[in-house]
Amino acid sequence: MTEHISNQITTAIRNVIGEKPAALHEPEFGELDYKNLISCLDTGYVSSVGEYVEKFEKSIEGYTGAKYAIAVVNGTSALHAALKIAGVGPMDEVLVPTLSFVATANAVMYCGAIPHFIDAEEEALGINIPKLRKYLQEYTIQANKVCINKLTKKIIRAIIPMHAFGHPVDMFELGKICEEFNILIVEDAAEALGSHYQGAHVGTFGVMGVLSFNGNKIITTGGGGAILTNNEEIAAKLKHITTTAKIKHVWEYRHDEVGFNYRMPNLNASLGCAQLARLTEKLEKKKKLHESYRQQFESVLGARLVTAKSGTMPNYWLETLVLSDELSSDLGSILIKLNDAGYMSRPVWTPLHKLRPYVIMPKMDLTVANSLEKRIINIPSSPNLSSRLT
Ligand SMILES: *Cc1c(COP(=O)(O)O)cnc(C)c1O
Repeated sequence: MTEHISNQITTAIRNVIGEKPAALHEPEFGELDYKNLISCLDTGYVSSVGEYVEKFEKSIEGYTGAKYAIAVVNGTSALHAALKIAGVGPMDEVLVPTLSFVATANAVMYCGAIPHFIDAEEEALGINIPKLRKYLQEYTIQANKVCINKLTKKIIRAIIPMHAFGHPVDMFELGKICEEFNILIVEDAAEALGSHYQGAHVGTFGVMGVLSFNGNKIITTGGGGAILTNNEEIAAKLKHITTTAKIKHVWEYRHDEVGFNYRMPNLNASLGCAQLARLTEKLEKKKKLHESYRQQFESVLGARLVTAKSGTMPNYWLETLVLSDELSSDLGSILIKLNDAGYMSRPVWTPLHKLRPYVIMPKMDLTVANSLEKRIINIPSSPNLSSRLT
């Protein structure tokens, strides 16, 4: 059984990208990247001052349709700043999908708040919305327009939907629930630059949304992130708090609160401008690659390729297979086989509620996420693999 499915998956991948080894997701650099970096060096402004940061922010606003984008050092600090400005503080709880990268929960902890873990759904791997609704109905009460956890008596201030591997969460449904229960939405769109839901870019549905430009993401600034918002006042607060809360003045150093040095360096922003210019081309390449994988995996019983849900346009950041229940015990051998064949493949993150800092945190029943942990495989997804399509 194991032998059979391992061979089938390996063959399907080989039929798409050929014999040569392939990484999971590689960055791509072209002429413009080099040119921008050199121009930035030539200006002498490589860190917190310089024209590229604002240019990059404007380009992100233009691309995503968000009114404001604030560039920062990485996606994790973007999440931290966003939660802070959302008013998440000590003793608050924040609903966090257990199936996410550790940064989503860490950012909550940086605010002194408690991550409260919620379950995943099988199809697009995001938040399990029907289950969330029932859970909130049963375990929370409303008081003075805030949502209180009946068991812990703490305020559930916010929720962080994460668009897993670029697949959008159903933001309309989630929006309805959050409005009913008075919970703020801060989107973790770190993996989802280029993903759209009902025609709008993800990260623009919540009060704020967060992007990452880490080396493994769809575009990179080395390290980097951004916060999106449509609210002018929030944008001003975000800019202030991520730039040491310094009051604008030619020579004075005066800071009116404890700010953070989260500003994206100009050098990274110069790379970002060049990278963003090729995003559309990358998205097209990834779509082609996805289409090819989709055809190959149609005939592989027991391994479903995660694809676009209706109303969504994912960026296909990481191509994702979900094994059927019966094959969950074969995950290890499949991963060995794929990596031995030179096709870099990975399981999903360990669900956050199982990590040492988080085992004691509040959580709902997490059956789906616990099951998905044993059934998810990410396979080679670099945009340049589209040139190897046979
Ligand atoms: C990449 C990522 C982040 C942010 O990561 P940084 O490396 O700090 O830019 C946050 N959440 C998720 C789900 C991610 O994949």
